[in-house]
Amino acid sequence: MSTGAADAMRNAGAFASDLVRPTVRLGVTGLAGSGKTVFITALVQNLVAGGRLPFFRAVAEERITGAWLEPQPDDTVPRFEIEQHLAQLMGAPPAWPTSTRRISQLRVTLEYAPDSIWRHVTGSRRLHVDIIDYPGEWLLDLPLMRLSYADWSREALMLSRSPARQGFALDWHSFLGTIDPGASEDEQVALKGAGLFTAYLKRCRVEAEAFTGLTPGRFLMPGDLEGSPALTFMPLDLAGDAEPGRGSLAAMMARRYEAYKTHVVRPFFTDHFSRLDRQIVLVDVLSALNAGPDAVTDLGTSLAAVLACFRPGTNDWLSRILSRRIDRIAFAATKADHLHHTSHDRLEAVLGKLTETAITRAQFSGAKVKVMAIAAVRATRESEVRKANEKLPCIIGTPMAGERLGTQTFDGATETAVFPGDLAADADAAIRAAGSQAGDLQFLRFRPPVVKASSGEPRPAFPHIRLDRVLDFLIGDRLT
Ligand code: GDP
Repeated sequence: MSTGAADAMRNAGAFASDLVRPTVRLGVTGLAGSGKTVFITALVQNLVAGGRLPFFRAVAEERITGAWLEPQPDDTVPRFEIEQHLAQLMGAPPAWPTSTRRISQLRVTLEYAPDSIWRHVTGSRRLHVDIIDYPGEWLLDLPLMRLSYADWSREALMLSRSPARQGFALDWHSFLGTIDPGASEDEQVALKGAGLFTAYLKRCRVEAEAFTGLTPGRFLMPGDLEGSPALTFMPLDLAGDAEPGRGSLAAMMARRYEAYKTHVVRPFFTDHFSRLDRQIVLVDVLSALNAGPDAVTDLGTSLAAVLACFRPGTNDWLSRILSRRIDRIAFAATKADHLHHTSHDRLEAVLGKLTETAITRAQFSGAKVKVMAIAAVRATRESEVRKANEKLPCIIGTPMAGERLGTQTFDGATETAVFPGDLAADADAAIRAAGSQAGDLQFLRFRPPVVKASSGEPRPAFPHIRLDRVLDFLIGDRLT
């Protein structure tokens, strides 16, 4: 049986079992630091502990009669370590959990009363919600499937020589200047070169807040492939399109690049991505705004690349293996608690603008897309501080130890009021002002809040911003 046919059979089997036990497979993705681990932990905790979710219709109508964790549905996917994350978030003092570095999964089962007249006939029903957490870096590998090694090398090198990036690539470029792609293959050259190339990619991501052109995604987020020979290659300055000679360094790099596509990229899409029903993409818009207009533009381009994964062209290999289609996608700007609520809608508008452009660019259609500004765990409260004759909308929280504001360095235990800055009312103006002195937003990392059980909640749950609306959009229609 061909690989494609085997994939199709397996996915058809999964589909049949979902008919017996209704299941919705919810993908949660975003680049490192976008807030995936915190989001899943807070979402599950709020469901299981009966947290305040007034805009989640099934909860508001008191139709959810139970929510609990179930054993892992897939034996080959690691479990999302929720207990460990909760222990960190609810520790004394509370700490942010250790971030996502690989794919993981968790099953929550909801017991609910349908809202139709059938509820009296059928009684309560169950829905499995399988949450699949995976690094967004892996999605950005999809275009590699269409690119030969020579094409990818050309694109990657061109980008690394652009004014915005060449400063990060100096070491790697000078190493490239010392090697001959036609020389005999050499493991030490491959190791050294791949190391320098990875360091360049990381600097682009971290120092320039760049999002696009940072392939292979596993070089940034290796998951279980950390240190694996599968990641020991790099682009080379090839002369023309001639086939690299046998036994040459260029042939070795091309072979490894193809192996990466076959053994890393493709299985991720066939085994995991193709089975998702719903998707949320978490985006740290605030960091991009803080980094400047280039970062914001680049973020928009990467969102278009992400959207293209959800609707591949009809002749694309990916569309042939998709057994189902993701029919709802939420884009969420995370960490909205860094802003006063007067700016939440503005943050949403900025992300809305970027996805609007991305939707046009990716020629995307056919799924419901919703854009939101959220905080999965709200670490701040709000107040107004009077300064001269002005009332400034401030946020109050406990900055993490070592955070600095002006000349002040925080100790991790002292609460403080901060004026975080305003986002411009107009999304285009906010994007234009990104990174400029005038538009500068003041970001402090705050410690997670200390949560206590309140009346009506059987167990403590995290305060949040708009998590209930996210839930309603992503799974609400499956609970009717
Ligand atoms: P991941 O790499 O996508 O899994 O990102 P994490 O979930 O680990 O989040 C990265 C960091 O962002 C955390 O350590 C927190 O400092 C911060 N963060 C994430 N979500 C929130 C939130 O809802 N509110 C606040 N204040 N900070 C958050």
